[in-house]
Amino acid sequence: MKVSFYGTRGSCPSPGKDTLKYGGNTACTLIEANDGRQLILDAGTGIRKLGDELVKQSGDIYLLVTHNHFDHIQGFPFFKPAFQAERNIFIYPAITQPNEPKAIIEQMQGSYSPIASTMLQANIEFQFPEWQQQPILINGFNVSRQPINHPNGGMAYLVTCDSKTVAYVTDNELNLPNPSVSTEQWIDIVRDVDLLIHDGQYIASDMPLKLGWGHSLISESVDLAVQAKVKNLAIYSHDPERTDDELDQLQTEINDNNHSVNAFLSMEGQDICL
Ligand SMILES: [Zn+2]
Repeated sequence: MKVSFYGTRGSCPSPGKDTLKYGGNTACTLIEANDGRQLILDAGTGIRKLGDELVKQSGDIYLLVTHNHFDHIQGFPFFKPAFQAERNIFIYPAITQPNEPKAIIEQMQGSYSPIASTMLQANIEFQFPEWQQQPILINGFNVSRQPINHPNGGMAYLVTCDSKTVAYVTDNELNLPNPSVSTEQWIDIVRDVDLLIHDGQYIASDMPLKLGWGHSLISESVDLAVQAKVKNLAIYSHDPERTDDELDQLQTEINDNNHSVNAFLSMEGQDICL
């Protein structure tokens, strides 16, 4: 299994000379099985570049959406396969409050977008499977989902294939006073996974201003990974104001603490083979 990051920034795209290393595009991750089957997680601005690659390939596209905040759907109107008439795109929306499962194309209307959703030529089908306790099969991947601690709700996904499991848990605030999912529950949910991709947008100095904004401290995501004994932790959803130099410094601090887990700050353009 291979995991590729096309966007690791949270909240707002952050292009510029200070973000060249970790990237400025917002959430988009591709999971690829050993036999080439693919699953896309989120459609932030990073999905535009992924679309440039996929447009040259054929085959159905499967997209899981964590929630409808713009940094997770904003790239979809610029996803070239959506304009290919022969293409099937299956979208699995999250449950949000309010529940707006088609927001990813409903953003393409009125004065919000020069391109109306009616101009999309692909066959776009929203999928509403019966999500149970047991994983469901999506394009050959075993997928389960969990609610996240985030304003307006949303979903985390656990994806298993090739005997490897990835947990994609972005925009999740671990240490809320009254979380819908406690840290103890998260430890059980992500225990022993091969790769945990977890939100780490903030550092201690960002608090208390950003308490309740729906993101975790880097240290909290590392603590979760250590307690859950995951094999690798990719810290995700970097603050748009965090520069490459600042993120390098934070990576050095993680390394100096010599954690039992391989913890790293995820980078746009990075591939991880499991
Ligand atoms: Zn969000």
